[in-house]
Amino acid sequence: MAKPLNVLFLSSEVEPFAKTGGLADVSGALPQTIKSLDHEIRIMMPRYGGINERKLKLHDMIRLKDIPVPIGSKSVLASVKSSFLNTNNTKVQVYFLDNHFLFGRSGLYVHPDTKKDYPDNDDRFIFFARGVLETLKRMGWQPDIIHCNDWQTGLVPAFLKTLYKDDPFYKDTKTVFTIHNMAYQGVFPKSSFPKTGLPKELFSEKGVEAWGNLNMLKSGLVFSDAITTVSEKYAEEIRSSDEYGCGLQDILARRKSDLCGIINGIDYNVWNPALDELIPHRYDFKTIDLKQENKQALLNKMDLPTIPGMPLIGIISRLADQKGFDLIGEILDDMMKLNLQIVVLGTGEKRYHDLFERAAAKFPDHIAVHLSFNNDLAHLIEAGSDMFLMPSRYEPCGLNQLYSLKYGTVPIVRATGGLDDSIENFSPANGNGTGFKFTKYQSSELLKTIQRAVQIYSDQTIWRKIIRNGMSKDFSWEASAKKYLQLYRGVTRK
Ligand code: ADP
Repeated sequence: MAKPLNVLFLSSEVEPFAKTGGLADVSGALPQTIKSLDHEIRIMMPRYGGINERKLKLHDMIRLKDIPVPIGSKSVLASVKSSFLNTNNTKVQVYFLDNHFLFGRSGLYVHPDTKKDYPDNDDRFIFFARGVLETLKRMGWQPDIIHCNDWQTGLVPAFLKTLYKDDPFYKDTKTVFTIHNMAYQGVFPKSSFPKTGLPKELFSEKGVEAWGNLNMLKSGLVFSDAITTVSEKYAEEIRSSDEYGCGLQDILARRKSDLCGIINGIDYNVWNPALDELIPHRYDFKTIDLKQENKQALLNKMDLPTIPGMPLIGIISRLADQKGFDLIGEILDDMMKLNLQIVVLGTGEKRYHDLFERAAAKFPDHIAVHLSFNNDLAHLIEAGSDMFLMPSRYEPCGLNQLYSLKYGTVPIVRATGGLDDSIENFSPANGNGTGFKFTKYQSSELLKTIQRAVQIYSDQTIWRKIIRNGMSKDFSWEASAKKYLQLYRGVTRK
């Protein structure tokens, strides 16, 4: 048997330590599954100020203190803290790279009040990428693979191929870079480039430069040994069009043979209505009637009246352009004529806060909104809604539609990226399908699709069938984790 691999998983967010979106869910679950398949995997992330050290059991690593990390001509000191991830009986060690000045603030990337990017995000993530490599050497732990995720880790492959090229410690270390979202690229002005310490010639088309700026995502795409993204459809979309590739499609097309899509799984220890401690009534398909009780609890919580026979649509999302809220804005009044109720949980761009607040004021018996980040409420919405709406403009994978399937909450989605790969359009002719899909990014298409769902909802026998189709799907991490392992093996042989 081949020897177990040593993998370092690098991520700027890991549930339950720090989260703004799906990356945290993936980082909290995938490493545990890989560990359960008998490989050594450890995680490293920044030590943000908002992490509760007592609750999450972080402790100092005494030997790993005051490690100098160069940022340009400065040297900044890093220390390391440690804790464990342990939600499914496998213990994965998590290291937190700490520098109080750079990371000792509550936000991850943006100031919580102004919602503006921190002006020193370049220093913060140059420090993180370089600090990881310096720290590993101090630790003496040699990974076969460094699995980088998103732009925050994008400089690591470039450092390994240049500054550490002749370092015997990293002689056998390969990198895999996973794209969770092409639209977030970590773009900084040319003046940030010298802080990376990379050779001058890398500030070019062949290197880490794009449109005259330093682009950390591009660095990951150019210098990693293999690239993955989180669904097959998205892998195809981002290398074939400017709209999805966000300007970097040519690089992906060039690296087509090194790029593959591996769909995200979900952690059924966390997102499972039969085990979920965050919902008032646990259920599975056999006890699906209990979903009604959760619906009642949700309506009460959101101050919406109970109207028998009326479907309730849930939305849980970052309120960003990507998610298709402009389409909803265009047809809100028409949607209300369909006799349905909507609950929205989300936070993000002001114009969407305004949109939903105005809608809730106009239709108080039909729309309720919670403009915050609230994990407990997210679980209750999954359990208590009849349908889940995700009309994304693009969606690398999407997790909420997968949670929805498990909770018997029928997804209404646009056929893009992971939404297209994971949701099968319901066909009344043969009773197959798990949700409702539309393809063209148009509000009239969305409206028609919601109409179709509401009409079918009125026949509860058929509706139960769709629920059953969805609840019986298996999106657990194991199959995808095995694909990552196969990829890691392939890369180590390169
Ligand atoms: P993205 O990563 O683009 O934000 P995903 O669907 O991949 O989208 O993952 C979103 C994750 O974040 C899900 O776990 C979802 O439940 C969670 N989430 C998003 N917004 C909120 C919110 N306002 N409150 C609680 N959880 C949220």
